[in-house]
Amino acid sequence: MAAQIDLHCHSTISDGILSPQELVAHAAKSGVKVLALTDHDDVGGLQAAREAAMQYGIQFVNGVEISATWKKRTLHIVGLKIDAENKALKTALDKVRIGRDARAQEIAAGLAKVGIHGAYEGANAIAKQSILTRSHFAQFLVQNGNAKDVKTVFKKFLVKGKPGFVDHQWMTLQEAVELIIGAGGSAVIAHPGRYDLGRINMLELMQEFRSYGGAAIEVITGSHTPPQYQQFAKIAHQFSLKCSIGSDYHGYGVSHMAMGSVPNLPAGCVPVWDDWPEAAYLLN
Ligand code: AMP
Ligand code: MN
Ligand code: MN
Ligand code: MN
Repeated sequence: MAAQIDLHCHSTISDGILSPQELVAHAAKSGVKVLALTDHDDVGGLQAAREAAMQYGIQFVNGVEISATWKKRTLHIVGLKIDAENKALKTALDKVRIGRDARAQEIAAGLAKVGIHGAYEGANAIAKQSILTRSHFAQFLVQNGNAKDVKTVFKKFLVKGKPGFVDHQWMTLQEAVELIIGAGGSAVIAHPGRYDLGRINMLELMQEFRSYGGAAIEVITGSHTPPQYQQFAKIAHQFSLKCSIGSDYHGYGVSHMAMGSVPNLPAGCVPVWDDWPEAAYLLN
């Protein structure tokens, strides 16, 4: 049976296709009972999503997905049950978003060097009011005819060594975890299988994350394969970390996993929601 909880997804506040209200409606239709919205570096969709969730009878959990740099790599740290009004968190995310805009201009400059002009304006037109992410550049490049689809665009233009890649410095792992905890939330390492760390670094990351007070890792995510579910369940156990589940849904056709079809945690995992009133009935 699919899990009725989904603790990682995106709306138009970051790089999702659906507005916060549409996303909640879609989650409800898909059988999700407990939902966290986790936009990249922005908590601007939480209020609207929470109001919509009340209408649909969904238990809503505040979330955010914070970009961080660890050993020159970008990691994503999800914060769950954060106070969206927390001052330090809001100030830090404001700063990240200003950095994102500067980065977007550098991405566009890199693309201009290979003859692709107007990418900043093009990505902005797609992003509308939201923050600028590589997803928006990818959509622009597809529309512009530079590659056939988003997947190809990333490979050709937006990853390390390619013209639209910028080695951006995000906040540190420690800052991200401490901001989340300071805002009353639980810190979760998003899609750990995606970082291509190697065994030694992966174990070091877990150790370090735990030492800052990190709570959990995503075991089930749209970016993991079934063998990785088992692998990360084991790692979570080894480091006494709890386990999370999230589709990482960005919209129809752009996500690995549909909402409402996310598998349950493997046996033996301690769920990150094991002491949440919002999710109490899922434990029975
Ligand atoms: P950014 O935070 O601006 O670097 O953008 C990262 C976002 O781009 C991720 O959250 C994904 O939504 C998307 N993304 C990253 N890599 C890929 C990929 N290879 N294919 C499709 N989307 C990707
Ligand atoms: Mn994204
Ligand atoms: Mn992510
Ligand atoms: Mn995500």
